[in-house]
Parts: sequence; structure tokens; C-alpha cells
Amino acid sequence: MISLIALSALAAASAQPLADIQADALEDEIAWEILVDLTTEVGPRLGGTSAEARARAWSVERLNALGFSNVRVEEFTMPTWVRGEEKARVLGDHSQELIVTALGNSGSTGIDGIKAQVVGYDSYADFLAAPASEQQGKIVFIWHDMTPTQDGSSYSAFGGARFFGPAEASRRGAAAILVKSIGTDNDRLPHTGMTNFGDATPIPAGALSVPDAGQLRRLLALGKPITIDLLMTPQQIGPQTSGNVIAEVPGRDPDAKKVLVACHLDSWDNAPGVFDDGAGCAIVAAAAKRIMDMGQPERTIEIVWYGAEEVGIHGGRDFAARHDGTDYHVVAESDFGADRVWRVDTNIGENRKDEADRLRAALAPLGIVPGSYTSAGGADIGPLMQEGAPGLSLRQDGTRYFDLHHTANDTLDKVDRDQFQQNVAAWTTMLMVMAGPVNEE
Ligand code: ZN
Ligand code: ZN
Repeated sequence: MISLIALSALAAASAQPLADIQADALEDEIAWEILVDLTTEVGPRLGGTSAEARARAWSVERLNALGFSNVRVEEFTMPTWVRGEEKARVLGDHSQELIVTALGNSGSTGIDGIKAQVVGYDSYADFLAAPASEQQGKIVFIWHDMTPTQDGSSYSAFGGARFFGPAEASRRGAAAILVKSIGTDNDRLPHTGMTNFGDATPIPAGALSVPDAGQLRRLLALGKPITIDLLMTPQQIGPQTSGNVIAEVPGRDPDAKKVLVACHLDSWDNAPGVFDDGAGCAIVAAAAKRIMDMGQPERTIEIVWYGAEEVGIHGGRDFAARHDGTDYHVVAESDFGADRVWRVDTNIGENRKDEADRLRAALAPLGIVPGSYTSAGGADIGPLMQEGAPGLSLRQDGTRYFDLHHTANDTLDKVDRDQFQQNVAAWTTMLMVMAGPVNEE
């Protein structure tokens, strides 16, 4: 009796026109509940730490409770870095504290800190153009002029100071490096984030909050030597366990290629990781759940909440090593906050242009504009796409993303519920198109 009622409920749901499915998804509560509970009950969850392990346990329990199949963890080990103390003080006539945070992989100053003169540059290019001789033994400081952009392109355009500056400063013999936070806010909250030393020796590498960077720039403009007492004591604690959490909505056709929807479960250690990337996990799981509740899709939907993205895309690499990119019909990830999807990009091949166009048409009522046919991607799905997985991107509005990104301000109160739920509607729509028709029996 129950199954008959359930089946007729499925029939009613799956026979719904797309407009109704989207209207319902705009009222979604599932994603919000996941986001609130994950970020409250687990909180910050840095890759490789016990907090991230708690996040995996929480996720397995929640994904099972939501009714997904084959919920499991694929564990891997990865080098792990943890934050220590962090303080910066200008010495001498203008003595004052500056707000600093260590970048991921930063070296340590030791518990006594270091005192060195600051040499400042207005851009990463200016730093590169300057002779190493003026940087040796100094604390290099790099400013930049990043502004907000809808597509987030200012992050890569101005992020070089953080991504590559520390390694380059190390090669040039600098004692330490401080960058203006790669962010667009005016809060006294520095933006952390990974830096990669490659074969260079790690040196202390920190980000000043945007206002503190402005303060230091003005101090340098006074034209007198500025010396900073810098204390940062992060540590590499060796290989630790992380893992990817995987769940499925089984499709009707077990031989059909799968649809993968993803986010990353880990966050930085300074905030509960709401925009980056609890929101993404909540959005993709809620969309898959909405499809599952309508009936059985043709293709299996695989939900992957990747581990240890922030600290080096370890989860994305491990997943691609164990799975074959060519097994996927399409892969997509949500990792750009909680604001609305504004554009759809696909990279699923010339021969699937009709499918790409059906997707564009289906997303248009949500205010989403058509974008590229030949580029899509994301950090965690990148390795799978290199193996040949077709990809698509539901691009989110990044105008305020870099106000919050990797700061202590990445908290729940910043979420705009209407924009957040528009994401759920967009991802549900995408799955309707890409995972094939929902069974109407
Ligand atoms: Zn992220
Ligand atoms: Zn991030």
C-alpha cells in the first residue's frame, strides 16, 4: 500500500512541468538545513585535521539520512600544515600592531620571531622587476589593486602576490613576505589561502588585512626605514588522513555514463566555511535529493564532497587516480560561494551541442545567461576533466565572494537565501537535463 502511494506520488512529481520544478526548488529547505547543520555542528574543518574527520563522519550520517545510496568515504593521506601564533608589530617611532595571518604552507619565524626592515612594492610585477639585492634579509611587502568582479577574474589577475610571491621571495633571499590580502573588503580580517613553495625553502609568509596593508603602505611612504617584528609559528605535522565523501542516486541504466556533482567539504581554519564551500556541498546534495524524490533518473548521479581542496586539491587528485574520467557523462562542481548562478558554461564536445542548448534553454527562466561552449571546470573536477570527463560550470556571481573568501567573516549570516536557493533550482534543472528523464512509471 505504501509503495503504491509512493509510486503515484513519484508519477505526479515527475510529470511536473519544469516551471513548477524550478518554483519548488526556489523554496528549497534541504540545502539550507545542510548548510546550517554542517557549519554549526562541525564548524571550521581544515584538511587533514581531526575537524575534517568529524566533517566526514557528519557527512556520512547526513547523506544516509537523506536517503542516498552507497554512501562511503575514500580515504587518502596528505601532508598537513597547521597554524600557530601570528603577530606583526611595527617597531620604532611609529610602533603599532598590524593584523596578519599566515598563508598555508608558510614557514615559521620560530618562537622568538624575526625583526627585519620592510621593502614594499605596489604590485607583484614591481616586486619581480626589482633586484634581489634590495630584498635579501628583508621583509618583502606586496600591494595590489584587486577590485570586485562578477566573474571573479580579479582573483587570478591579482593573486600572484600570494600564489607565487612567497616562493620567489624565498629564492631571492628575503627573510619573510607579507602580502596585502587577496580580497576586496575593508574589514580588519586578513584572507588566508595556500601558497606553494615548490622547490624553494619555505619562509614566513603572511597576509595583512586590507586596511592594515594600507596602513603599512602609508608608513613606507613616510620615507624612513620601517622595521617589523614578525611572529608566525605554523608547522608541518606530516602525513595525515583526509578523504572524499561519496553518495549516489542510482540510475535506471547501470551502463549509462554517470553525472558527477561536487563541492569541497574542507574549509580554512579561521571560519566555518559557509561560502567556501559548505554552500556548494549543500546545493549539489539538495539538487540530487530533489531529483531522487521525483523518481529515478536514467543516469546515476554521483555526489562527491571532496576533502582537502584548500590545502592542495588532494581530494580531486585522489579521486581522479581511482576513477576514470571517461566514465562520466558530465562533471560539475559548486565552489564559488552562495550567490546566484548568472551564467552557464559547457565543455561537453561539439557532438553534444543540442544537449548544451537544451541546458541553456532550461536555465534561462532562472535568469542565467548562456556562456562558453568550450570551457568549463573547477579545482576538484580538473583532474577528472584532464582524463577526458566532459564538464560544465554553473557560474556564480562573485561580486562579494572575495569580501569573505578565506576570512573569519565566512559565516552563515552573510547568506542571501533567495540567491542561495536559486542555485538549488539551477542545479536541479541541470540534473533534469543531464541525468536523463526521471522515471514516470
Ligand atoms: Zn573553495
Ligand atoms: Zn577556498
